[in-house]
Amino acid sequence: MIECTNIYKNYGAISVLKGISLNVAEQETFTVIGPNGAGKTTLFKVLTGEIPANSGTVTFKGEDITRLSASARVHRGFGRTFQVARVLPSNSVLENIVIALEARARQIERGPLRQLRPTGRIKDEAVEVARRISLANKLDVPARFLSHGDRKRLELGITLALKPKILMMDEPTAGMSPSDRNATIDIILHVKDEDCLTIMLTEHDMDVVSQLSDRIMVMNYGETIAVGTLSEIRENAAVRDIYLGEE
Ligand code: ATP
Repeated sequence: MIECTNIYKNYGAISVLKGISLNVAEQETFTVIGPNGAGKTTLFKVLTGEIPANSGTVTFKGEDITRLSASARVHRGFGRTFQVARVLPSNSVLENIVIALEARARQIERGPLRQLRPTGRIKDEAVEVARRISLANKLDVPARFLSHGDRKRLELGITLALKPKILMMDEPTAGMSPSDRNATIDIILHVKDEDCLTIMLTEHDMDVVSQLSDRIMVMNYGETIAVGTLSEIRENAAVRDIYLGEE
């Protein structure tokens, strides 16, 4: 589904990604873990086209997308959530989702801009998205009044409204209470199943990693230390030394 080969990224004299290669299969959940500063977010930015790599290639469903912009990658099916949720703070839950659905409709129809008015089918769809992220009871609440967990889930809903094929999530449960975290894990497992999604995520919480991941890649100082299932990773001596040993 998504593959990258020999990705290098420097910030000035600092080498942040040093030859990263990976291959994520369709409907797989692939998690990138590693200590702070390992390069996980930078790798996500390169894969989603937010920043260019210095060298290396990225392919998506067999197409070389290395030189495509982030928005062109969204058109091809990339959905992305961030460490700090990006929502429209003054707009309600419903409006945030409607705006995403309208954007998706415009993308498909290439039609003229329509008034932002949650009527008819789009409103029904938005309510359905809100239900999927457990926010159907907060449709009229402005996003700025939502709890941290609800804001992260709203961002997930906005991303789902764009009907991605691959969902890239940067620390989807960071800063959440245990109950919020469990609710979010359940939602991710559900939507993955219902929408046949391929998922890539970064995560520090090993409990979340174990519940969501099919395979895990461990990074340290911009390099891949190991790739495998959770038990394979746990048995890897280099990983124990470099990462899990720190816990
Ligand atoms: P965390 O788990 O803390 O989010 P990470 O593994 O996602 O860390 P990155 O955010 O990718 O790590 O950062 C990797 C390295 O690159 C760090 O040393 C960071 O300071 C550096 N870095 C990231 N963005 C920039 C930038 N725009 N300019 C210069 N250095 C940067």
